[in-house]
Order: sequence, then C-alpha cells, then structure tokens
Amino acid sequence: MSTKRTPVTVIGLGQMGAALAGAFLDAGHPTTVFNRTPGKAAPLVERGAVLAGTVAEAVAAGELVVVCVLDYPAVRSLLAPVAAELRGRVLVNLTSGSPEQAREEAAWAAGHGIGYLDGGIMTTPPGIGDSASMILYAGGAGLLAEHRPALEVLGDPVDLGTDAGLASLYDAGLLGLMWSVLGGWLHATALTGADGVSAKEFTAVAVRSLGTMAWFMTTYAEQVDAGEYPGDDATLDVHVASIAHLLHAGEERGIDDRLPRLHLEMMKEAVAAGHGGDSYARIIEAFRK
Ligand code: NAP
Repeated sequence: MSTKRTPVTVIGLGQMGAALAGAFLDAGHPTTVFNRTPGKAAPLVERGAVLAGTVAEAVAAGELVVVCVLDYPAVRSLLAPVAAELRGRVLVNLTSGSPEQAREEAAWAAGHGIGYLDGGIMTTPPGIGDSASMILYAGGAGLLAEHRPALEVLGDPVDLGTDAGLASLYDAGLLGLMWSVLGGWLHATALTGADGVSAKEFTAVAVRSLGTMAWFMTTYAEQVDAGEYPGDDATLDVHVASIAHLLHAGEERGIDDRLPRLHLEMMKEAVAAGHGGDSYARIIEAFRK
C-alpha cells in the first residue's frame, strides 16, 4: 500500500491556518507554509513544515493549496499576483465570507485555469483534525472526491455540490442557528439559575433536549419543503399558550424577556393571519418576508 501523501501548501497561519497546517503535518503530508508575518511559522517549522519566502514559492510546492486568512480581499491580494503559478493546481479557500464573494472567487479561479473549492469550517482551531468536526465544501466538480484523502485529515468533509457559494451560505445559516441555540440556552440557564440550579445541572438536561429538537427539525423540514404545515403534533395556538408560561416564569425572576417576546411576536402574527391550527413550521413564512 502506498503511503505517499499529497504535498500541501497552507497560506495564512493565524489561529485557524496554523491548526490546519498542524493537522496536515500530523498526518504526514509534506507541508509548505506562508504567512504575511513569517515569525508565526516557527512552531510549524519545528514540526517539519517548510516555510516559503514568497507566496509564489509556497504555491509551487503544493498540489493542494489551502488558504485561510482574515477575509476574501486578503485572499485576492495574496493570490492575484500568483494566478499563473496556481494554474492547474487546486485552491481550497477556507476563509470565511459571503456566498457572493465565494462565487466571485470561483469565477476568478476558473478564468485562470485554477481548480477551486470553497470551504466553511464548522469548528474552532482545537476541533481541526477531529473527524467529528464538519468542514463544508462547494465548488469544482470532482475536486473534493479527488482530494478527500488529504482534506479529511482536517475534519469530516461535507460535499455541498458544485455551486461555490453554498459553503458560505450554509456557514451563515449555521452561525444563525448557533446564536439562536446558544442564546436560548443562556436565557434558560439564567431562568433556572435564578432558583439555584447550576448551569451544569441544567445543561445536562438541556443537551438531551437537543435530540428532540433535531427530530422536530427533521419532521418540519418535510413540511417546509411541501409548503404545508399540518398541526398534527402541536399547533401554534398551543405554542402561544406555552410561551406564556416561560414569560411568566421569567418576569417573576427578573429575567430579560427579549428572546421569548420575539418568538411570541412571530407566532402571534401567524395566529392573527388565521394559522393557529398549523404547526410551528408555519413560522418559515414570517422569515421569508
Ligand atoms: P487570525 O488568527 O486573526 O488570523 C488571520 C490570518 O489572516 C493571519 O494569517 C493574518 O496574517 C492573515 N491576514 C489578515 N489580513 C491579511 C492581509 N491583508 N494580507 C495577508 N494576510 C492577512 O484569524 P483565524 O481565526 O485564523 O481566522 C482565519 C479565517 O478562518 C477567517 O476567515 C475566519 O472567519 C475563519 N474561521 C475561523 C474560525 C476560528 O474559530 N478561529 C472558525 C471558522 C472559520 P498575519 O499573521 O500576518 O496577521
């Protein structure tokens, strides 16, 4: 069995780029690195990375070129001068940005004969190298399949297809989901904490409830896709009544009520429009306005 590992280049050695380069080194990939501030490469060089003196030198060393810097303008300023050197190679852009920026970058790469994958990293640097961490990829047909053995050392690669904007779009949506979940958890932790329940005690139960949320989401996704919201498990009328208990408990304990009030407002709008008998999935229509 061949043990040959694809030579990779990592451009950008901030917190995330350094973690990416470290994971490639741990997996035995010949790894060349470049950073605007070269001093940051020292710990990686100690572990076996080669520090390139210029971006062009870095690009020339890797079949797979991974870039992870602050934003897309920084990516372009680094890579535009080396478009010719990138021709025929595969560029994996793990820098966060908008779907529009990703599609623009993909078009730029296509115009220069560069294979392009856009990625969204769904973890923080300590999660890099863990197969439980998702990394979303979108872009050039077949590129993820071709480079999966190298890319899966960073985390579990999720293939979103050939529209390069989709990794950023999912990333943005999942950030919103994260803030909603963390906000809801902290609100509930403040509420239960007011009666002396520790965050740890409450969280043990809260984490179990996420499994049920996942089941709701999977069930309601079918309703959303069908555009029909039968309230055959729980109706919006029941949700409106339930949220009153949460608001009451919060008021008694002096807990900020902005989050539940936002939910109540959206539910009430749907009920006022005659949808009180529908499921919670009906709220999608409010978000689509
Ligand atoms: P960071 O630690 O602040 O590092 C930023 C990197 O970008 C450094 O290598 C920096 O170079 C480089 N850079 C910034 N502006 C530049 C420019 N104009 N020209 C050349 N290089 C430039 O940030 P990070 O946490 O590694 O994040 C990098 C990317 O990963 C971001 O898009 C971020 O949204 C994304 N991301 C991060 C996380 C996370 O948890 N950290 C999670 C998911 C996604 P210098 O060292 O020379 O300053």
